[in-house]
Amino acid sequence: MVKHISHIGIAVKDLAAGIAFYEKLGLILEGIEEVPSQKVRVAFLPCGDTRIELLEPTSEDSPIAKFIAKKGEGIQHLAFAVDDLPAALQKTEDAGIHLIDKAPRPGAHNAEIAFLHPKSTGGVLIELCKEKH
Ligand code: ZN
Repeated sequence: MVKHISHIGIAVKDLAAGIAFYEKLGLILEGIEEVPSQKVRVAFLPCGDTRIELLEPTSEDSPIAKFIAKKGEGIQHLAFAVDDLPAALQKTEDAGIHLIDKAPRPGAHNAEIAFLHPKSTGGVLIELCKEKH
């Protein structure tokens, strides 16, 4: 069902500082996109089949602002790529895993995304992601 790690979402206070750090490791900035529904600006830095996604809150009531206030900057979620998101959600729910999103919603990069509930995943916020290229 899961193909590979689509991206790792990392909460940052300052997008430019986050980008500068990952560029020092040799990653190359692919682009920056604002996702109004999530109240974030997202920077993408590809790393093989995976991307580092830096998430900067654009508002104090952004989920990322709340995450940073509670836990500080750092890894916020892990996203697995799937081919068929509705089917993957059905399988996941059938397996007894609680879903935050029962239906796909739009994410960054034109992807369709859905989150699984951390109470069912050992504390990791997991996203299933149907990538569009
Ligand atoms: Zn994500």
